[in-house]
Amino acid sequence: MSYYDEDPSYTKPEKTALYNWLKNDQKFSILNSRRYMLALKGLEAFAKKRNLSSKKLFTFNRDEVFATVAELYADEEFSNYLALCKYYPVKPLEAIEKIVVYAADNLESFEEDTDEQEESLWKEGNILYVHKGLLSCQRNKHDLITATAIMDSFDDQKLKMTVKYCKDCNKFFISEVSYEYYRKKYGALIGNIQLEHSNATYSGEFLAEESPLHLCGYNVNQQDNYSAAERRFIISKIIDRGIMNKVDIINYLEYFISHNGQQEKNNLALSKWEDDLQFTRRYQRKYDPVVSISAIRPITRK
Ligand SMILES: [Zn+2]
Repeated sequence: MSYYDEDPSYTKPEKTALYNWLKNDQKFSILNSRRYMLALKGLEAFAKKRNLSSKKLFTFNRDEVFATVAELYADEEFSNYLALCKYYPVKPLEAIEKIVVYAADNLESFEEDTDEQEESLWKEGNILYVHKGLLSCQRNKHDLITATAIMDSFDDQKLKMTVKYCKDCNKFFISEVSYEYYRKKYGALIGNIQLEHSNATYSGEFLAEESPLHLCGYNVNQQDNYSAAERRFIISKIIDRGIMNKVDIINYLEYFISHNGQQEKNNLALSKWEDDLQFTRRYQRKYDPVVSISAIRPITRK
């Protein structure tokens, strides 16, 4: 019998399941497990008070948990709430990290129950916008519904992601926190992904994280440590699907080689960028029409 079990407010089966996971799978002490539960309860109370549409963190539905987390991050008062909790033994953001892992590994997704209309909203050419902070559609009280976006990943696997669709703007959105979750889980998320309010251009200065190449999962870091074959797969898919053209990708890689490649700590990254640059230069788009040149003659101006 633990303190937790004696607390009548913790008798909901969803909460007991989460508590047991913290204690048994995460090997937290009883005290720390309780602290995590309290941090999450605080977050749920905050969501309820702020009248967020998804305000449940304790549910057996994974999508509901993700949607609540995304809305918390997007809420304009959330940073004030975090500041208030700075002396708590378990920080709300730590608790969020735990519940995202828990939801991803243990809870059911209701994807199969998504009605057909929602599924059919998404078309391959659609752009998925990643938003940081509060989505402007939420601020403007637009008509938002959940939808399912489909992306390509390794082994030509099709991934389903739960996203938001704004009926007023006719656009698809995903919060940064949900996007990061899917990217960590699947590695490559190949599709038309853009940051909302991005000013990225690929011919001049741009931010690495705003490049669709990066948003689709391409990177040379040592945590993901993608093999040459995996990086080439991402690049070739991006070109084949027309998400970026070869010139854009070449510019991106050249930018990295010249800006970041000169530092000694980036030696390994440099060799990967150079290898990928060679590959991209030689790569023939799969469905390029074969153009045969029958004669070469100087251009004559009239
Ligand atoms: Zn909108």
